[in-house]
Amino acid sequence: MFYLLKCFIQMKILINNNDLNEALFGVTKLGFVPTMGSLHKGHISLIKSSLKQCKKTIVSIFVNPTQFNSQRDFLRYPRNNKLDLSILKKLGVDYVFIPNKKDIYGYKRKSKIKLNKKDKVLCAKFRKGHFEGVIDVMDRLTKLIKPKKIFMGEKDYQQLYLLKEYIEKNYESKIILCKTIRDNNNLALSSRNILLNKTELIKAGKLATNIINFKKKIKNKKNLKRILIEKKKELKKEFNVPIEYFELRNKFNFNKSNKIKNSKIFIAYYINKIRLIDNF
Ligand code: AMP
Repeated sequence: MFYLLKCFIQMKILINNNDLNEALFGVTKLGFVPTMGSLHKGHISLIKSSLKQCKKTIVSIFVNPTQFNSQRDFLRYPRNNKLDLSILKKLGVDYVFIPNKKDIYGYKRKSKIKLNKKDKVLCAKFRKGHFEGVIDVMDRLTKLIKPKKIFMGEKDYQQLYLLKEYIEKNYESKIILCKTIRDNNNLALSSRNILLNKTELIKAGKLATNIINFKKKIKNKKNLKRILIEKKKELKKEFNVPIEYFELRNKFNFNKSNKIKNSKIFIAYYINKIRLIDNF
């Protein structure tokens, strides 16, 4: 009932820091869902968690230029604010923050964001500067919004892990982990999936299903190093895709792992030059 009522209350669209400060004055128990827009069911599940757990919910839409490795990738990133706003309104979100670059990057930070050496693995190794950009923008957004809870997807598990470490050390906000939402073919939903054609989407779904079944098969095995090397070769051949990494790592400290317990399989690969990541 409360949920239905919320849908009729006007959603506030905040397009700069003044709007934001004015709207959030005195607001407590705020849930925050940071996004880069082009919303899908993955984002929607995060938003629904926030609506359930928090008194008010704010969603940001900001395609953060500093986390892209190339201008081409940044410009190619799908954008669809009109559709996003209608989705958010229907969900009963209280505030949408759509800042400009100058609202976020209007001041220079005192010290540069740096990753620990031990964290420079997986995407941090292959996308130089990416997580520094992600942490920087989340630091700035958290400072502006001061949420009680921030909802993030397990789909980007390394991002979630690094942000949990950084944000919870520097702010009172808590990062809440939300499950990865997949389509009927097991492909993790992602805004980038729009860039794939039907055949490529089917291929990506089959690859995800293959890894899910593989993980079940090796559940009780130990000393998986050799098996993982072989599996990576097999995937490359079977799906004819370049694989950037295919690794089993402990989900609490990101050390390389040899067993499934407390670990996750991480993959980054390309289909038709589109980089896809997932974890299982
Ligand atoms: P993005 O707009 O891609 O920056 O993602 C915004 C948030 O949505 C991040 O916390 C992502 O981890 C999360 N997210 C993206 N895809 C999914 C998914 N398939 N399931 C759950 N969360 C997701």
